[in-house]
Amino acid sequence: MDGQMMDYQLTVPAIVRRCEAMSGAREVVSRLPDRSIHRTTYAAVIERSRRLAGALAALGIGDGDRVGTLCWNHHAHLEAYLAVPSLGAVVHTLNPRLSADDLAFIASDAGDRALIVDAPLLPVLASFRARTAIEHVIVVGEADELPHDALPYEELLAGGEPRDPVEPHEGQAAAMCYTSGTTGRPKGVLYSHRSTALHSLLSLAADGLAIAEPDVVMPVVPMFHVNAWGLPFTSVLAGAKLVLPGPHLDPESLLELIQGERVTLTAGVPTVWLPLLDALDREPGRWDVSCLRALVIGGSAAPPALIQAFDERHGVPVLHAWGMTEMSPIGTIARVPAGLADAAPGEQLAARASQGRSLPFVEVRARGDRGFAPRDGTTMGELEVRGPTVARSYYGGAGAEQFTEDGWFRTGDVVTVDRFGQIQIQDRAKDLVKSGGEWISSVDLENALMGHVAVAEAAVIAIPDERWQERPLAVVVLRDGATATADELREHLGRTYPKWWLPDRVEFVDAIPRTATGKFLKTALRERYAGP
Ligand code: AMP
Repeated sequence: MDGQMMDYQLTVPAIVRRCEAMSGAREVVSRLPDRSIHRTTYAAVIERSRRLAGALAALGIGDGDRVGTLCWNHHAHLEAYLAVPSLGAVVHTLNPRLSADDLAFIASDAGDRALIVDAPLLPVLASFRARTAIEHVIVVGEADELPHDALPYEELLAGGEPRDPVEPHEGQAAAMCYTSGTTGRPKGVLYSHRSTALHSLLSLAADGLAIAEPDVVMPVVPMFHVNAWGLPFTSVLAGAKLVLPGPHLDPESLLELIQGERVTLTAGVPTVWLPLLDALDREPGRWDVSCLRALVIGGSAAPPALIQAFDERHGVPVLHAWGMTEMSPIGTIARVPAGLADAAPGEQLAARASQGRSLPFVEVRARGDRGFAPRDGTTMGELEVRGPTVARSYYGGAGAEQFTEDGWFRTGDVVTVDRFGQIQIQDRAKDLVKSGGEWISSVDLENALMGHVAVAEAAVIAIPDERWQERPLAVVVLRDGATATADELREHLGRTYPKWWLPDRVEFVDAIPRTATGKFLKTALRERYAGP
């Protein structure tokens, strides 16, 4: 017998309807590329998104069309997030930090028909547009020189007839983002209205990010990286005030916004938070960050020392999360499980520094050499996941080998799972160091190195070795004015790890190259150091 409940469609327009009915007066604050602060409300953003939808429809954009964005975090980008899916079209965020070749590939593979671009990013567009089929270019902000066929965003909106949303089916695509492509070509992930709505709902849950209307949310993670981890949609659903920092991600600009707007939750990759911690440490008492109830770290492992430093020195609670472009992106969040409520502080810190436990309906399993790994916290295996916010395939059928026959997604992350279901990432499968037939976790070594007082950043890679097959090499950036020798760092690691884990070589550098999403670019390090 079927149940008799409504088949209510979980869609982006449904997210918007709730916000409009209840939280229209909540603010959306943006720092624009020229550094000025722009203030508006959800009511105004929603009204403008209807005009944008009308204008796009007048250009012939409709059901299933892809509309690209090449924008930083600001209100106009949010308007595109809401307008494009309300037409039944797909908002496709492009990462301006990618190479022209990657952007040309991604925009043509996706078949973007129109593109909304920040004026300062026009040179990026010019570097690849000729290799795409983009028909319409819409420019946000003032530019000295516009491409001959460009449409200024504000003029387009002023002339746009407000258009009510269509009623998309929840299975329809709402948004699109390409994987960072560290292995092979970038692959397109198509988020449905339903996965977007469910990911937002899960982020509201107390065991998720617990976002609610009184929150002030500042996604430092760019809106071109997995929809800023879903935070714009989540904040609209909750009616939480949004603070969008534009391209200005230096510690001073971020701290000004946190203090000035009384931000309660912010989120970004460790490489954003390491310099911010340094800024707080350098001038104790200059900044008031007592408003923060959660600083979410994800995208790469959060070193326990970073978690502890924010907590203990600055009273900022860190929330460590793991996810992937293919997972909308949040997969797990680290909180102390009820079973460890009375555990020693060290054990509780270890739980918070693990990748944590999966969101409701996101299931995890680790596939080892001999079947699925037991949940013993020590046996390693490749993490596989499934759930309503996880991709079931890539756009155009690329990367089919990443999906198992029984419908799970193979993450490529090597993990242990413990009795509480907490996962601990040991490495990307390709980053593990295999020395003399035994695995060494580069993530563990990096975390331990970043726990040394003199170390600002550290990345560990495998380099070929005649005798041991591979050995770890550490690339280290020291803190300003600090000193440490390779032997001192090895001695520090030797307190926790066996001798054969210790890197034979430590290279001191001024900066570690980063990927377009701010992670350490290990392929570049391998190219530089893995030779003879
Ligand atoms: P992306 O799809 O670009 O966001 O990259 C996803 C990958 O980033 C994951 O498969 C992990 O290897 C890595 N990652 C994301 N979050 C974390 C985390 N909290 N700890 C360790 N690795 C992470």
